[in-house]
Amino acid sequence: MIKPSCVYCGRVDASDHDHVPPLCLFPKPPADAITVPSCRQCNVNHGRDDERVRNLLTSLASTESHPAVLGHVAARRDRSLERDVNQRRGKHVEHLLDSLTPVEIRTPGGLHVGRSVAFNLNQPVLDRFFSRLTRGLLWHDNGVVLQECEIEWRVAPSLSDLAGMPSERKAFLSSPSRSGSVGGDVFRYAGYLRPGSPSSLWVFGFYEGVEFITRCRIRVVAGSA
Ligand SMILES: [Zn+2]
Repeated sequence: MIKPSCVYCGRVDASDHDHVPPLCLFPKPPADAITVPSCRQCNVNHGRDDERVRNLLTSLASTESHPAVLGHVAARRDRSLERDVNQRRGKHVEHLLDSLTPVEIRTPGGLHVGRSVAFNLNQPVLDRFFSRLTRGLLWHDNGVVLQECEIEWRVAPSLSDLAGMPSERKAFLSSPSRSGSVGGDVFRYAGYLRPGSPSSLWVFGFYEGVEFITRCRIRVVAGSA
């Protein structure tokens, strides 16, 4: 039997299974968890990223009141940060604090009303996270192992952005070719894959509070599940 390749690096003989998205985002391991073949090295390398992404995604004003965050995940996050400080490592705390950035607060009309702080999500740990999520779901939903592709991401448009969007674009976004969820509404996703074209667009939602779009442009497609 041919062993599957690692969906992240393409190395043959993937001995591990990686959870997509990582289990630490869920209050308990979800029954409908998605796993993908991964080599040991990729799987181990993801561990530290997972915790940092969890810390960021559960600390946003728009996600912190979700029942999964309030009930379990925030407590686990706080325990891990406390442990981090007690062991005098402080790397995760430092990362979270470094992610804070000052923002200007404006009214919808553009009037400046003060300053606050917000999390800057534009950072390498999230580049790696969304690349992984996209590659994982491309394998899961399409059976494709990608070795060379460009994956860009950004925070998804807000509802007011959608209101101003041309109708054909809105129609496209309302009919994904793939969609699913893991752990109820903790993680939802939609994939837009055109027949005959390897490029794809993905929308990921976490805790019903924050959404991201990734775009994958493939340079070389190799292998299959
Ligand atoms: Zn790998």
